[in-house]
Amino acid sequence: MFPDLIDGKCRSCGRQLNITGADDVSLHVECMKCDDAYCVETDAFIDGRIKYRPEIMADQELGEES
Ligand SMILES: [Zn+2]
Repeated sequence: MFPDLIDGKCRSCGRQLNITGADDVSLHVECMKCDDAYCVETDAFIDGRIKYRPEIMADQELGEES
């Protein structure tokens, strides 16, 4: 999923990130522009804890069931 740029952006180039996964302590992100991939803390994004992480975790659970 794609976080709003206003909430967070690539640490390398400042472009759009894609959140690809999450675990208990971090979000896994990939840059859409420079392909940098890394983990950030769940509070790296504004509203990350309440907006992005729950959605990612829900998506992962659905994926594991199917
Ligand atoms: Zn980048």
